[in-house]
Amino acid sequence: AMRSKTEILESAKQENVRFIRLQFIDLFGTLKNVEIPVEQLDSALDGRIMFDGSSIQGFVRIEESDMYLKPDYNTWLILPWSPQQARIARLICNVHLPDDRPFAGDPRTILQRAVAEAQSMGLNACRVAVELEFFLLKLDQQGKPTTTPNDEGGYFDIAPTDEGENCRRDIVMTLEEMGFRVASSHHETAPGQHEIDLDFTDAVSAADNIITLKMVARTISRQRGLHATFMPKPLQSADGSGMHCYFSLFHEAEHAFADAADTLHLSEMVRSYIAGLLFHAPGITAITNPLVNSYKRLIPGYEAPSYIFWSTNHRMPFIRVSQASDTGTHIELRSPDASCNPYLAFGISLYAGLDGIRKRMSLPSPVHQSIAAMSEEERFRQGIRRLPTNLEQAVESLEEDEIIRTALGEHAYAHFIQAKLFEWEQYQKTVHPWELNQYVEQY
Ligand code: GLU
Ligand code: MG
Ligand code: MG
Repeated sequence: AMRSKTEILESAKQENVRFIRLQFIDLFGTLKNVEIPVEQLDSALDGRIMFDGSSIQGFVRIEESDMYLKPDYNTWLILPWSPQQARIARLICNVHLPDDRPFAGDPRTILQRAVAEAQSMGLNACRVAVELEFFLLKLDQQGKPTTTPNDEGGYFDIAPTDEGENCRRDIVMTLEEMGFRVASSHHETAPGQHEIDLDFTDAVSAADNIITLKMVARTISRQRGLHATFMPKPLQSADGSGMHCYFSLFHEAEHAFADAADTLHLSEMVRSYIAGLLFHAPGITAITNPLVNSYKRLIPGYEAPSYIFWSTNHRMPFIRVSQASDTGTHIELRSPDASCNPYLAFGISLYAGLDGIRKRMSLPSPVHQSIAAMSEEERFRQGIRRLPTNLEQAVESLEEDEIIRTALGEHAYAHFIQAKLFEWEQYQKTVHPWELNQYVEQY
């Protein structure tokens, strides 16, 4: 619910709030915060709290380092695990320059701009839901995360309740206490792997919710002696963790995705929207799958997409179109993983779809057969392209995609590319255990 300044000040007093975390997001989706005592809340709500942006990755040069935090009043909430006598609240903020302009490298600003762009095209509500997969890993004696999953369970297991099940339930209960609408949660395919599904909401809130969910999952799992990791592929021979994103668009009060005349109930507009996403798939991948490790998930055989096509029932498509009786037609983008910056991922996905609408791109036929069973030649004939297979390729595809580059804006684009190429280079020059095993004896 939209809150006013008075309401927040009142809530702070009534709930014994002593400290407020002013949160913001860096270019790589990491949550940062500046903690202030409650005495400064009034001035924080007026956007008068300053911080040094030069210390944040992907932010600014030293000479223009003063930044202001402008809280979004809707994000006010009290952290349930904070002590009763001295509660801690949080507010998610936009980042502004000293002259009050929004900072171009702030991911939240980039997403808000994309939403405004969609609105200017008559799409007055872009709703997003997400399925977040993650692993619960054991901690070692020193309290450091190991790579040992917490259980041996499988998909939708209801085996004897273990620490993992309890932990996931605690995470869900904490989220609900914080006012989230958790659609469902279950054990996933791999040992120690879980999933929490968040309900549809506007794109900015959906991204805020992801950031918050990750913070809650990490905090609660630590209390139970576990570590929650959203790393895309922690276990080599098991499924990786995805972050499937569902989009639902409304065009001037009507559901843009539903058209009863079409057998799939897809309107002309949504067909072009999907076509835009397919067209820009290589260009958005560095953003939706930003780690070296992300590409070890996007391989055949583990229910993660590796080829660019859409389908209605298939397990492996890049986009799956589904019908829900209550909320209409959804398009599920299945490539993103939770290591991405959700603000950037939603923002550029929107731009990709809008480009499809603007250029009236036509939708290729869906693919329902098994992609693995198809020959390379057959895939080529059907025009099914491969997603980038590593971070370097993905960065190159981003560099070639003018629309996505513009969507990010020059500041975010340049910093992102620079950081990712550096990351790739570090990885490239590392001699990995696989190479030693493979070569040291034979050559
Ligand atoms: N874990 C799979 C992935 O990497 C998805 C499994 C599912 O369909 O929920 O995307
Ligand atoms: Mg899943
Ligand atoms: Mg899914």
